[in-house]
Formats: sequence, C-alpha cells, structure tokens
Amino acid sequence: MPYDTDNVFAKILRGEIPCETIYEDEFAIAFDDINPQSPVHVLVLPKGEYVSMDDFTANASDAEIAGFFRAVGAVARQLDVVGSGYRILANHGRDAHQEVPHFHMHIFAGRDVGPMIRPPRP
Ligand code: 5GP
Repeated sequence: MPYDTDNVFAKILRGEIPCETIYEDEFAIAFDDINPQSPVHVLVLPKGEYVSMDDFTANASDAEIAGFFRAVGAVARQLDVVGSGYRILANHGRDAHQEVPHFHMHIFAGRDVGPMIRPPRP
C-alpha cells in the first residue's frame, strides 16, 4: 500500500492541521489523541512516511527505528506514567482497525486499562 500524503497525520506533520504537541525530536512527534480512550491517550508517530508497523519495520533505517522507540519511552517518562504503568499499542491493517495510514503507537495510561484483549464473542 503506497503512502497517502493526504492522511490526517501527514497533514499534522506538515502543520496543516493543529494538534497539541507534547514531544518532538528528530525522529518522532507525540500529541494527544483527539478521541481519548483513557485519561492519558497519546499518539507517537515517526516523522518518516511509513504506512504501518509492517512498512516501518521493513523499510525504516536502524536510526529511525531506534529513534522512534526511544521517543516512545521518553514520552512515557515525560507523562510520568512509568511507575503507575501504561499500555502501548499499534494497529496494523484491517483486522486491527487501523484508521490512519501513517504508522503510530498509542500510549494509554492514567487508569487501570484492563486486560490485554477481550475474548472474541461466541
Ligand atoms: P488507529 O485506529 O489508526 O490506530 O488510531 C487512529 C487514532 O487517531 C484514533 O485514536 C483517533 O482518535 C486519532 N485521530 C484521528 N484523527 C485525529 C486528529 O485529527 N487529531 C488527533 N489528535 N487524533 C486523531
């Protein structure tokens, strides 16, 4: 799947759509999710144009991958949720309901976020 330069996160990265940036470095940017699912719900994006987890891990440089994951850890420390705990999550593709085709990781925290995944309905 080719990268869609009109996706909403591409527009945020270009400054065409506003966001509440809470962290930025050479490799990544982080901002609050517009529709939070927990008291803390932050999205961390690599700055490079990668559609998904698959695209990122197949095509990003070692420096981009290391920089991105270091940024996720740094954002969690900045949010002061390391002690209480947090969940990181990345949706890839249809079955995971990925909505925005620019790779990103969610950080959920600020409450007990429950079991890892709900069992399927019978
Ligand atoms: P996905 O399902 O792709 O993993 O999650 C996409 C996330 O992006 C959703 O949680 C959604 O609320 C968030 N989102 C979509 N559009 C915007 C936007 O314009 N601004 C912000 N801050 N978050 C957005």
